[in-house]
Amino acid sequence: MRNILLIISGPSGVGKGTIVKRLLQDDSYCLSVSCTTRAPRPGEADGREYFFITKEKFKSMIESGGFLEYSNHFGNYYGTPREYVESRLNTNDVILEIEVNGALQVKRSHPEAILMMILPPDKEKLRARLVGRKTESPEKIEERISRMDYELSLEDKYDYIVINDDLNAAVTEIENIIKREKERK
Ligand code: ADP
Ligand code: 5GP
Repeated sequence: MRNILLIISGPSGVGKGTIVKRLLQDDSYCLSVSCTTRAPRPGEADGREYFFITKEKFKSMIESGGFLEYSNHFGNYYGTPREYVESRLNTNDVILEIEVNGALQVKRSHPEAILMMILPPDKEKLRARLVGRKTESPEKIEERISRMDYELSLEDKYDYIVINDDLNAAVTEIENIIKREKERK
């Protein structure tokens, strides 16, 4: 049976990372660890949240076709390593947690991928989560919130929209969607 390629997008701070951690408690899922040129946040480890690489290394990976997709987002590059995703799909369901432009690039090369957008109940809750996370400056928080309108404009290209209000309810909804998609295959 072919496994599922699930692409999770949504505004920064909506809870994607938190949701993915919960999904990964089931070890049939693999999370693709992306490469980025942004600096690690406190508590992030190289090879766990991201592979933190230089711009030069990123550009050489672009040239050698090493990315399934990549994009420049908030002034930094982010990209999905091609080899990891394509080999893991033979044995596991694979989750990508990537922004909308990258997600649409993958959908073009892998039309069977499931595009899922996670949204907050409203912008104020999104702001409260970003402030509560204490990882971004006030300017960076506003930049991330203002990007939400762009992401919403692509909502209709997504297969599923899930509102992350109550975390447990959102995780259950996503697990049920995956179950249904697997049954359809
Ligand atoms: P993202 O990966 O989308 O940028 P995070 O997973 O880092 O977002 O979550 C941002 C903050 O919001 C974190 O502090 C997290 O604990 C919190 N959070 C996530 N989901 C919920 C929820 N359903 N209700 C309240 N807070 C949440
Ligand atoms: P953060 O800096 O908060 O970790 O991530 C910023 C944004 O980059 C998030 O929307 C996240 O989903 C996205 N992102 C993370 N990895 C990738 C990737 O490999 N490709 C693309 N296109 N976006 C990514």
